[in-house]
Amino acid sequence: MENQSNLNSIPVEKNFDFSRHTTYGAGGKCKVAYFPKTEGQAAELFKELSGQKEKFFVLGRGSNILASDAYYNGSVISTQNLNGIKTVKDAIICQSGVTVSQLLKFCQINGLSGLEFLAGIPASVGGLTLMNAGAGGKYISDVLIGCTVFDGKLRNFLNKSCDFGYKYSTMRDINCIILSSVFKVERTSGQYVENNISKYLKNRSLQPKGKSCGCVFKNPEGYSAGKLIEECGLKGYRLGGAEVSRAHANFIINNRATAQDIYNVIQYVKSIVFNKFGIMLNEEVVYIGEFNDTDC
Ligand SMILES: Cc1cc2nc3c(=O)[nH]c(=O)nc-3n(C[C@H](O)[C@H](O)[C@H](O)COP(=O)(O)OP(=O)(O)OC[C@H]3O[C@@H](n4cnc5c(N)ncnc54)[C@H](O)[C@@H]3O)c2cc1C
Repeated sequence: MENQSNLNSIPVEKNFDFSRHTTYGAGGKCKVAYFPKTEGQAAELFKELSGQKEKFFVLGRGSNILASDAYYNGSVISTQNLNGIKTVKDAIICQSGVTVSQLLKFCQINGLSGLEFLAGIPASVGGLTLMNAGAGGKYISDVLIGCTVFDGKLRNFLNKSCDFGYKYSTMRDINCIILSSVFKVERTSGQYVENNISKYLKNRSLQPKGKSCGCVFKNPEGYSAGKLIEECGLKGYRLGGAEVSRAHANFIINNRATAQDIYNVIQYVKSIVFNKFGIMLNEEVVYIGEFNDTDC
């Protein structure tokens, strides 16, 4: 653990702007963001902010976030400087700020296969682990051996302790920061990994272009959220600068929208789908700050 003087050496950004640090490219500012450079700093900072009872938020790559336009009266711990990565036997140990592109580049150079399904997700290892991200029928839970988290104490969770489910891990229910994750991989050739990555990227090429958080809603059991939205005739529905994608109805695209515009479209879609099918969609996207429900 670091001492206070080490905490003072953590890089900070005052007036941190969510619109520059989320894939939605929307939202307001907050007082300060911290960018710890070591796991010890991150844990100590987490402890310090928890102790001050100050509102704070752990931010990965902001690819599943909608931050409100209003000033967020709290701070952010960004994991972006936690980008160490190494192999131990047939496993990769990644710090939580490692991005998918950094991870797959490492896999390609070292001929390590198993994680190619993540190609194209603009996320960090911490966010992927917390959300049990998946693509092409594979999930983080299929490849994660364990992770190290700090919730006031340092804990090592093996896969089965993470209680993974659809878009769920137990880490979502405890106030914690994921510091690192360990993934199992198989040794192969770099060319094999590269070919697999290209295959997964090709599958994504039809995904909507533009600023988004990927899929806004979770799929209700037995249904596709995108199909339900499409069957309500909502493709292309637009409010301010926010639009239900014409290519994939579970994407809401920011075309010079405010965060409130995006929020309003989300609430509108939920109400229309509920009125037609009696199914309440639940958001996959994570909100930061307060939104105005009376605008919807
Ligand atoms: C174009 C696009 C395509 C996408 N495709 C997919 C897809 O195919 N499959 C899929 O599952 N998702 C997809 N997503 C959604 C998103 O990438 C995932 O939800 C991802 O897991 C979020 O990771 P992040 O690092 O961006 O986390 P953030 O968006 O920064 O945060 C998401 C949540 O994780 C928490 N968090 C982040 N890091 C940590 C940490 N170290 N410790 C504790 N909590 C943490 C945050 O507090 C927040 O609650 C897509 C998004 C976009 C924009």
